[in-house]
Amino acid sequence: MQTWRIQVMAELAITFLGTGTSQGVPFVACDCPVCRSDDPRDKRLRSSILVEAEDVTILVDTTPDLRTQALRQNLRRLDAVIFTHSHTDHVAGFDDLRRFCELADRPMPVYASPHTMADLRRAFYYAFDGQHAYRNYVRPEPHEVTAPFRLGSVEIIPAEVPHGKMLVYGYIFARHGRKLAAYFSDCHHVPPDVIAQILGIPVLIIDALRHEPHPSHLSLQEALDVAAAASAQRAYLTHIGHDLGHEETGKLLPPHIRLAHDGLRLEI
Ligand SMILES: [Zn+2]
Ligand SMILES: [Zn+2]
Ligand SMILES: [Zn+2]
Repeated sequence: MQTWRIQVMAELAITFLGTGTSQGVPFVACDCPVCRSDDPRDKRLRSSILVEAEDVTILVDTTPDLRTQALRQNLRRLDAVIFTHSHTDHVAGFDDLRRFCELADRPMPVYASPHTMADLRRAFYYAFDGQHAYRNYVRPEPHEVTAPFRLGSVEIIPAEVPHGKMLVYGYIFARHGRKLAAYFSDCHHVPPDVIAQILGIPVLIIDALRHEPHPSHLSLQEALDVAAAASAQRAYLTHIGHDLGHEETGKLLPPHIRLAHDGLRLEI
């Protein structure tokens, strides 16, 4: 009798390249228990994810830690980069895209809102002005997005959320018409129209900075409230500061909600 091996491929894989707030964790010159923790899950580079389907590899944001993150994950190929917003902790590693332009010998498609793209053009003018368009340099191919778009087989739906005084993008990732994951790394509120778009989402990745409320970020309780309002099947908390220790905070959470940690890979 012939044995059939059925291989079930994940629709989408998401790897957390970083899960820390803008300063990373540990903070420089801080002696708090989380900053001094020996638990590797308390070492948080700046927040970023890698989204992979079998035909495409997408980076979300270029943090100041991008080089370290790429080496740590043995990242060899990037097909595109999408940006949530232009705060320094999400864009400062832009220059490190040069290696991926060199490896693929082509410009790097970068996707962002018109506002974020304008900031990228200002901050990295030398890359956008075409003056350095030789092979071994970062060569962006800009795409301003205000509506859903596709990268390979992955549909990407931008969703605006308030983050301090700004409106920034979170992204919903779908394949074959099915929403699989949503990523909201920086927000202090998720409006009802966005909640409606992510109802029942298999994986919600959501900002949870600390216990206390913050004008630009969700607190832990607020993040739990968003996950409940969205009826998320699973939720992972990210953009975490230094008052949420991985082990102790995990004990406060329901089983379907976890603190993310650097290197964590989800298959959806
Ligand atoms: Zn941030
Ligand atoms: Zn600390
Ligand atoms: Zn931000």
